[in-house]
Amino acid sequence: MIYADVIVDISLEKLDKTFQYAVPDHLSERIKEGSVVIVPFGNGQRFLKGYVMSLSEEPKIDPAKIKPIRSLPEDELGPEEQMIALAAWMKKNYGGTMNQALKTVLPVHKKYTPREEKYVCPAVPKDILQGELNALLSRKKHSVAKERLMRELLSEEEIPWDVITGKLSVPSSNIRDLEKKGILRVTSKHIYRNPLSSKSLEDSEKATVFDLNPEQKAAADTVKKTMDEGKGGTFLLYGVTGSGKTEVYMDLIEETLKQGKEAIVLIPEISLTYQTVMRFYHRFGDLVSILNSRMSPGERYDQFERAKKGDCRIMVGPRSALFTPFPDLGIIIIDEEHESSYKSEQSPRYHARETAEERVRYTNAVLVLGSATPSLESYNRAEKGEITLLTLKKRVEKRPLPVCEVVDLRKELSSGNRSILSRRLKDLMEDRLSREEQIMLFLNRRGMLSAMSCRSCGEVIKCPHCSVSLSLHRDGKLHCHYCGHEEPKPSVCPSCGSKYLGGFKAGTEKIEDEVKKTFPKARVIRMDADTTKGKEGYDEILSAFKNREADILVGTQMIVKGHDFPGVTLMGVLAADLSLNISDFHAAERTFQLIVQAAGRAGRGEDPGNVVIQTYQPDHYAVMAASDQDYEGFFRQEMAYRSLLSYPPKNHMLLILITSDREKPLNLQASSIADMLKDSLRGKCIVSGPYDAPVYKINDTYRKVIYVKHEEYAKLVDAKDLVEQSLNNAEGFRVNGAYVWFDFDPANM
Ligand code: ADP
Ligand code: ZN
Ligand code: ZN
Repeated sequence: MIYADVIVDISLEKLDKTFQYAVPDHLSERIKEGSVVIVPFGNGQRFLKGYVMSLSEEPKIDPAKIKPIRSLPEDELGPEEQMIALAAWMKKNYGGTMNQALKTVLPVHKKYTPREEKYVCPAVPKDILQGELNALLSRKKHSVAKERLMRELLSEEEIPWDVITGKLSVPSSNIRDLEKKGILRVTSKHIYRNPLSSKSLEDSEKATVFDLNPEQKAAADTVKKTMDEGKGGTFLLYGVTGSGKTEVYMDLIEETLKQGKEAIVLIPEISLTYQTVMRFYHRFGDLVSILNSRMSPGERYDQFERAKKGDCRIMVGPRSALFTPFPDLGIIIIDEEHESSYKSEQSPRYHARETAEERVRYTNAVLVLGSATPSLESYNRAEKGEITLLTLKKRVEKRPLPVCEVVDLRKELSSGNRSILSRRLKDLMEDRLSREEQIMLFLNRRGMLSAMSCRSCGEVIKCPHCSVSLSLHRDGKLHCHYCGHEEPKPSVCPSCGSKYLGGFKAGTEKIEDEVKKTFPKARVIRMDADTTKGKEGYDEILSAFKNREADILVGTQMIVKGHDFPGVTLMGVLAADLSLNISDFHAAERTFQLIVQAAGRAGRGEDPGNVVIQTYQPDHYAVMAASDQDYEGFFRQEMAYRSLLSYPPKNHMLLILITSDREKPLNLQASSIADMLKDSLRGKCIVSGPYDAPVYKINDTYRKVIYVKHEEYAKLVDAKDLVEQSLNNAEGFRVNGAYVWFDFDPANM
């Protein structure tokens, strides 16, 4: 007999409470984890909808007392049921527990009571009200507050309670008096916070709706045809920087709304700025809502409620916006689909792209992936014909792509230039400053130059909790970017006592200083994790730059993501190759993407742009292809390399991460899993490891990894299931002091 653990009450705080039911034979084929079922409840008179969390052969109570599942519901799945089915799919394909999966798709753990707002309205016709007012005035000593309230009621149909007690300063006892007399009524409304409502006041101009150019139109029409046929499908919109992808998205959203359906737009959190949100808001007004990580759980809950009620019909947000419970979803758009932030770093480690593809199946919606530098995965699938490729080869309005040049930093050094800025870049900067055009300088990695080391013994100062070096910041302290540890800068080497310690300032700070020294008259602003800490810091810096309050913007990856600054005509990519040195098979792909995206910021306005790429590895294929803006060329070379080493997307890859605060249980657990897998999967999958993780220790936790590779994803799911079974499905997969995590096709190694 098979038994199902079923959640009957889906109020979110009770996700953990399940009841066991028997699965009748005639339904056993159709009931899976995540299935919606109809079960008897209480004394058996009531039938309720339930959700299957897990299946097992073990009865938890006397089997005679376990009731059978009655049936499966006949109607289509509602939005919440779709999310639960999605959670089950995620658990199966990414590992982790059903609970973790549910908490991901239903991200609010507690039910929030929405804010209530009270209103006062007249309860009698105007003439009677006037009569009452006259009666009041005829008295010698009457309450002026009451008089004010009644006069207001004569002219207004509905007055907020707060206005009466606030601006009109009428005591609430007066309101209640008149309520008792039947002159007025007090009502209340639930108010769902609208994150954009305050913006509508300051910014009410309408968007210019461009006529799509022929390339844009061809792309949009292909998607619309599929929408009209109601079939659903996935599209890759590969459009060079500045080719007008966003305009295509908005055209498709318009069509979706016409069909009475809703739209989700995913944007990487880092690009989710005021400007990007406003582009959608100006076009679609109050139909747009947003999610972002700075919102309180209550605010997020409100947005999901508004979506369910049809109060908003377009949700713009990061990865988690994917789970917006729209009743009739028509389209999901994933902008900058290559971004690694679309992969969750918590269990279940889902990828938004794949999960979106599963979600659109439920309603035959379409999925549009957009990028100027598509992920190898997506482009590979498009080449194989699994998804439909749409291309925008040209920038809008015939604007040229920027002119890129590569500067070899080794030659700079040998000719005596020790500056961070090459001579060519410096010359161009001078030129742009004299013409009052704007410049961006992009440093590939935050804090790369900031480690502190001893010049006598060579010791690098490391974090006591992690196996990474500490970075010296302008506050004079050493910081760990992994665990947040900070300590004062030591005056002598902790290892040999030498006082000759070499420190570097954090990368972007150092560049900012040098640029200010070289161009004392230029207005320079810096954008990195330190300057954007405050809630609005990010938007403030971007708006200031857009409004030309600065000439030069210095920053990390944050400044290259999707922004549209028409005044920028020069982009300097400093140390383009730093990201090539990371020990991760994505290194070349990430470097290529970053350089192309950075280059794409220049020359978006009337004036054409230049890009200077400074590098120690001018001959690397990622650098060369990026400077030629040659995506296809890069794709071919990189695919050859991935195939050679059986890396994704040639093969799929499962990373099993084992962590523990003690090394002994860690080693035991890691070897036992690796041995078991090698044994069971011999000749079927490639299993390698255990190895120390690239960062072996984080926050006092030691980490080991095992890799499993196979062409078919399903084979890796089987491997994961084997490991889970061997751990006996322990909650969170913790056994003997070691935890086990799964990461399919990892975004970071
Ligand atoms: P991408 O996202 O592909 O980099 P955007 O959508 O940001 O490009 O478009 C770049 C600029 O071109 C924007 O300022 C946009 O308003 C403008 N634009 C887009 N489509 C058109 C069009 N058909 N005609 C004129 N301008 C357009
Ligand atoms: Zn030393
Ligand atoms: Zn640390």
